[in-house]
Amino acid sequence: MRDSHRLFLKSLMSKQFLSEKETKTLYQKSYSAFGDESLPEDFEAFLATVNKNLKPFFMEIRRGVSEEDGAVHFGLVNTTEDEASKLATDFSPSDIAFFKKAMDLIVASPGGLASSVEILNAAHELEKTIKIKMSMTHAENLVERLIKDKWMSEFSGSYSLGPRAMLELRPYLKRVYEDEIVDCMICHDIAVRGQCCTQCDGKLHNHCAARFFNGRAQKTCPNKQCGAMWTHRVPQLSTSSPSQVNGESNTAAGRHHKKRRKNTK
Ligand SMILES: [Zn+2]
Ligand SMILES: [Zn+2]
Repeated sequence: MRDSHRLFLKSLMSKQFLSEKETKTLYQKSYSAFGDESLPEDFEAFLATVNKNLKPFFMEIRRGVSEEDGAVHFGLVNTTEDEASKLATDFSPSDIAFFKKAMDLIVASPGGLASSVEILNAAHELEKTIKIKMSMTHAENLVERLIKDKWMSEFSGSYSLGPRAMLELRPYLKRVYEDEIVDCMICHDIAVRGQCCTQCDGKLHNHCAARFFNGRAQKTCPNKQCGAMWTHRVPQLSTSSPSQVNGESNTAAGRHHKKRRKNTK
């Protein structure tokens, strides 16, 4: 690692979680901070160098796609599967128990959204099941904190898992909700929030549904064995993620996405 890599890593460590734009700005800044004598690495190569050096420490800078709007994020994650250690630095055991209850509710709902009433009721559930007493005010403040730290997301009074949970808790989600969580039929990444087919178990992220059905007259399930009519309203592509709207940039994830998409047709 050169000084530019070290500066990039140090800044990302203090933030933990950044949007694609912020990450690339940080990369450029780190780069220009040291008039590096060697040829400039592109972003992917730069990231690969940092990740190679992080590997012995069970850390990785991981790319994730927000279920909210399809926007790309980067986060520094612990690659061990122990979800408790990821949350334990910031939250008490009872707070973690509450968040797990909230995750149960979110994952159990077909669209990956639980109402605020359901989520706050989880505080009462804790008392019944594991004898933890949690006040409503504490639960409300906790939800706010979880949203601020991107573990959860809010959509007009309902809650889903935030981009950080999707990035850091992926092994946990796959293991604990093995039977409930399915992969998106388009991008093949796990899908919590999205639209479900009415006939098969297939699910689509909202942004993947928007892209897949964009301009198609016949709206049918992308699962070839199914092909049922897609009865959901096709979501609008977010204008806040232009790189996504334009079929994504020349990133590795973009190429990967297009390749997978072709296979689904
Ligand atoms: Zn998807
Ligand atoms: Zn289907």
